[in-house]
Amino acid sequence: MFRPPFCPYRACVNHLDPPGGKWWYANGTHDSHAFGKVPRFKCKHCRRTFSVQTFRVTYYSKRVLPMKKLERLSSSSMSTRALSREFRCSCNTITNWIDRIARQGIMLHAALRKLIDPHDSVCFDGLVSFESSQYFPNDIGISITCKARMILGLSHAITRRAGVMREGQKERRDELYEGMKFEEKAVERSFGEHLDMLRKERSITLEDPLVVITDEKVEYKRAFRKHELYKEQDEATRCVHLTVSSKFPRTYSNPLFPSNYIDREARKDQANFRRETTCYSRNGANCMSRLSVYAIWHNYAKKYLVKKPIISVETHAEVAGVERRLIRSMRRRMFSNRAFLSRLNLPPLDSKIWTKTVYSPWAGKEISASLPHFAFG
Ligand SMILES: [Zn+2]
Repeated sequence: MFRPPFCPYRACVNHLDPPGGKWWYANGTHDSHAFGKVPRFKCKHCRRTFSVQTFRVTYYSKRVLPMKKLERLSSSSMSTRALSREFRCSCNTITNWIDRIARQGIMLHAALRKLIDPHDSVCFDGLVSFESSQYFPNDIGISITCKARMILGLSHAITRRAGVMREGQKERRDELYEGMKFEEKAVERSFGEHLDMLRKERSITLEDPLVVITDEKVEYKRAFRKHELYKEQDEATRCVHLTVSSKFPRTYSNPLFPSNYIDREARKDQANFRRETTCYSRNGANCMSRLSVYAIWHNYAKKYLVKKPIISVETHAEVAGVERRLIRSMRRRMFSNRAFLSRLNLPPLDSKIWTKTVYSPWAGKEISASLPHFAFG
């Protein structure tokens, strides 16, 4: 018999810390087209009702897609339209399920990211692409550990188009940008969000200093100098920013190799990051959801090295020090139990992807995509 683990309403006292006894009543069943008879319950404290489905990853869905297959195909260079043809459903259904997998993956990653090897250095770089049109380049910050090549976090920044343009292109740019407000120091803010996450989750000592490797972009240097990680160093803690020229050959011995590696992999495995493509992102928030699904698949399902024996199943997370048994049980949970935002203490880096929040130059501020209310539960 199913026992509800907690009350799903975040304002209720039984949400975060339900008592040991029976805090709910059985409240009949309802018929659903997708799931048949579904048992319902009522909370004794807030008197609100909920069902078995409230706690499943398939909550509120009218059509259930195979999540593991969708995760794998979306991470293997299939575009949203190709996926909608594969699953015989609309592009909106694909986006809805990609969002669900992204939220479930954030839950798994937030729990396991804290367990990785604290000695490994961190590489950071921006993956530059564009959304809507080439006049709106985006700079997606990716932090990745050096040895295990495990993606730690993703952040979004949108910038003005720079570089050489023809006269006609300049006119078009001025026309498009009229009335728009771009974010000041967007790349600095984006890098800062990764430093915030590292400060919160990583133990930093003099013996185990945190080494962050980036290229020589002035924005990264400024953000690092301003950040508490740098300013609050004392006799017991040490944090080092190593900068490497981006003109150095992109070889294995380059300290920025992990960033170069993930740039190459994302461009190969994500249809919207290919060069000269018609599959470019139409929407920054959707792009971040898809990339987040890719990051989780890369960390917890993809084999660590292509060159390893064909029977090897070692993932990037295992190389980073997370037990295989734990990864498997968390992955099972990821594909069955619904993750609740209010029960996770996420850094802004993750909560922005969850709530699909990105800066919009049209609105002149950060805005969240219109998500169904249950996504904020
Ligand atoms: Zn309640």
